[in-house]
Amino acid sequence: MNPKRTLIPCLTALIFSLTVPLQGFGAESPSAQTALGKLKAGNLRYLSGKSSVPRVDAQRREETATYGQKPIATILGCSDARVPPELVFDQKFGNLFIIRVAGNVTGTSEIASVEYGVQYLGTPLVVVLGHSACGAVQAAVEKTPLDGKLPKLVELIAPAVDAAKLAKPSAKGQALMDAAVEANVRHQMKELTSKSEVLQKALKDKKVTIIGGIRDISSGKVHWLD
Ligand SMILES: [Zn+2]
Repeated sequence: MNPKRTLIPCLTALIFSLTVPLQGFGAESPSAQTALGKLKAGNLRYLSGKSSVPRVDAQRREETATYGQKPIATILGCSDARVPPELVFDQKFGNLFIIRVAGNVTGTSEIASVEYGVQYLGTPLVVVLGHSACGAVQAAVEKTPLDGKLPKLVELIAPAVDAAKLAKPSAKGQALMDAAVEANVRHQMKELTSKSEVLQKALKDKKVTIIGGIRDISSGKVHWLD
């Protein structure tokens, strides 16, 4: 197969999707409060074993391919394989715009992706979603020697660990990890707004709400930060 023949249509589709605001199903975006209510209700369905998720069928796939996506929230979550956001929040295809990266950090690509979710997809809610026992946060807490590009990623978490140690100087072990996970969510929320003029403007215009959450990988419950 000629790689150019497949690459060019792919690039064209990508450029189109990035330059044309997607209209989705034509419905109005919900308010941030409504979107958050849907996530909370979905997490409760998931916890009680009553997930309705199964809109992963061919019909739903074709609907989203034909009419576009109209996600209700942008989620910046960790890559950890144990709790995918669609399942945790019991949401169907096309409902969540998700960026997953180890440690739910805010590098340039992640910030740009959140901007895309807010600016072009019109999500009224951004969730920075950490989780208990996060390996990336643990590496930052323990200053684990790492290879490759990982030290660059862990550098983005280090200020959160410093903040956690400053706030709770006597915390050790599990208590320190829990404090660091929460501090990391709060730190990445701050980074999103301080580094993105697009998000600053959206916040000022009350077009978006940014909230933090931590999912317990044991219970599956999402604890929402104030
Ligand atoms: Zn993690």
